[in-house]
Parts: sequence; C-alpha cells; structure tokens
Amino acid sequence: MSRPARITIHTEALRHNLLVAKQAAPHSNIMPAVKANAYGHGMVRVATTLADLADGFIVACMSEALQLREEKITNTLLVIQGPLSLDDLKVAVEKDIRLVIHDESQLALLADFISSKPVKIALKLDTGMHRLGIESVKTKQHYSTLKALSVVHPDIWLMTHLACADDINNDYTQQQISSFNEQAQSLTCTQTIANSAGILAWPDSHKDWVRPGIMIYGSSPINDKSREDFGLRASMTFSAPLIAIHALKKGDAIGYGSTYLCPADMKVGVVACGYADGYPRHAPSGTPVFINGKTTQILGRVSMDLIVVDLSHDQLNEAKIGQLAELWGNHIDVDAIAQSAETISYELLCHAGASCKNL
Ligand SMILES: *Cc1c(COP(=O)(O)O)cnc(C)c1O
Repeated sequence: MSRPARITIHTEALRHNLLVAKQAAPHSNIMPAVKANAYGHGMVRVATTLADLADGFIVACMSEALQLREEKITNTLLVIQGPLSLDDLKVAVEKDIRLVIHDESQLALLADFISSKPVKIALKLDTGMHRLGIESVKTKQHYSTLKALSVVHPDIWLMTHLACADDINNDYTQQQISSFNEQAQSLTCTQTIANSAGILAWPDSHKDWVRPGIMIYGSSPINDKSREDFGLRASMTFSAPLIAIHALKKGDAIGYGSTYLCPADMKVGVVACGYADGYPRHAPSGTPVFINGKTTQILGRVSMDLIVVDLSHDQLNEAKIGQLAELWGNHIDVDAIAQSAETISYELLCHAGASCKNL
C-alpha cells in the first residue's frame, strides 16, 4: 500500500553529519544510533551508508542487531537493552554482538551462562538518569564479579547516559560525568558516555566511544540552537502533493472544528498528508510548510489524510495540483515543526518513517 505522502532520505547528508560528529570528537571511536529503524530513516539503509565511516552502531534490542548481521553489517554492535534471556547471550556470542548489562537480573543471567566463547558486554551505570543502569556505587563490586567470569570477555566496557545534555546551562551533566569518572578511575576499561548533545557541547564526555543519534539525522541536539549552527544537513525530506486549490472568502472556516477563519479572501491548497502519515496532529495554524519555492503556513486542524495550506502569497499563485509541498527537509527544519507541535524531532522522524510507506 502506498499513499501520496513520501519520504526521501539524503544519504550524502547522513555521511556529512557523521563527519561533523567525528570532527567534534576527533579522538573517539564513533557508533551512531540506528535504533527504531534509524530514527525512521531505514536501519539497513543507514547502516550500509555509514558502514565505512562508523566504527560501530548502537541499537535498542537484539532483533535490530540480528537484522544488521543478516544484512552483512560487520561493524561493532552494541545492544542498549542487553540480554533478556540465556538465549540472547548465546546468540550474541555467535554473532559477535556486544550487550549492555544494566540490571542485576542480567548479572544473574551471566552467572548462569555456559559458553566456550566469551560474551562481550558493557556495564551501564546509573549516574543520575534513573532509567537503565546499575547503582553507580556498586560499579567496582559488579565489575570485579564480571571480570572473574570466564564467560565474560575481559574487555568490559563502562558506560552511562546523560539526562540533560541538551541544556548547556545545566550542571547536572558535569555532575554525571564526575560521578562516572569517580567510578571508572581505578578501572582500566573502554568508556562511553556521549550522545549527540555530549559530542557537541560536553567535551569531557567524549571518552573512547561516542554515540551520536539525532545529529546524524540532521537535527540539533542542543536547545535553542539550530542544525545550521552546527553545520548539519537535513537527512530526511517529508513531502506530499497538492491535490486541490480553492479560492475562499473572508470569514470562511477551514477544517474540523472550524478553528481557522479566513481573515480576507484567500487562496488555499489541500496537501495529501495528515497524521496517518506521521505529520503531527498538534501542529497549529501557522506551522511552516514549503511550496513552489516559498515558505508558507498550514491553516486549521491537521486531519488524518489532509492538511490545508495558505497559498495567498503572490509567489504561490502559480502553485499547481500535483506539485509537492515539503513538510520538512532542506527548507523546513524538522526542529521548527517539532517546536510548533510541542514535541521533539526524534518523535516526528520516527513516526513519519514508520507511517509513511513511500520510504
Ligand atoms: C539513543 C541513544 C543515543 C543517541 O542519542 P541522541 O540524543 O539521539 O544523540 C546514545 N546512547 C544511548 C544509550 C541511546 O539510547
């Protein structure tokens, strides 16, 4: 099934953005996040595009890692959720997949694991996010238990994740880094902390490996900064055709709930894209959209399959049925849409990628 809305992925932009990340953290190995179908961009496509530039990839779960191995991706792979069963440990050994160990239940799994070849792991500490990770004060204890297990590969990584790195004025990040350093200090091991925000704003977080996600996908990871501020390029264009054009009169109402009333006689267009395609329903009138070389705005509520757009500007007089409107991409920063819809670019990219079958 394919609907008129479509997604175009710019592989050159993905490669460019990866180089921006490498330049920002020149002494670290780099493992882009390709979880959640590479933030809607297509996991295998992105991994294949970046395989020669990236040292590894991070994914959320085992099935994502297995799919990459099936597609002949040979880079280092790190699974954030780690093993849920002894079978996951066995498969990780067979396919050379590194697993995050973030919970004591997983330490227990490792203690029960029998294997002739060791499994590669990364021990995750909770330094303040309180989501995944073992209690940081228990790091040394767990690290030495793991070191003593012959089924655990001796190159044990130590990692943590930053909660507030998008806010450059928040010293919570420095506290998390210090707390990590305190635990890691007496252990000689491979270390990783930084997400995209860490890479661009917190050099102390760089360590041995960096883990960029959103910056690879052309969106700014730092509050109040745009992708241009970091030289990042749009990696996804989301577009859909104009399927109707109307001349409306002053006072005419547009869309469900009649939330927009034309302030004057005006020309409007109808674009074949709605929340079913991954466009955010909460984007209000005034949210930018790009048509015929001009940035204009959406009018009224976003519906399931359709959006109404303002064609009242002179330059939009020649807009024609069938012409593509850019919902986000090179001209419309996905961060602008996220801000307008009170969400984050991550969610928009994931949803459009998952909803839009014309990827
Ligand atoms: C998703 C993820 C990243 C990447 O985060 P961005 O904010 O997209 O750069 C890094 N590390 C972990 C553990 C993640 O889950």
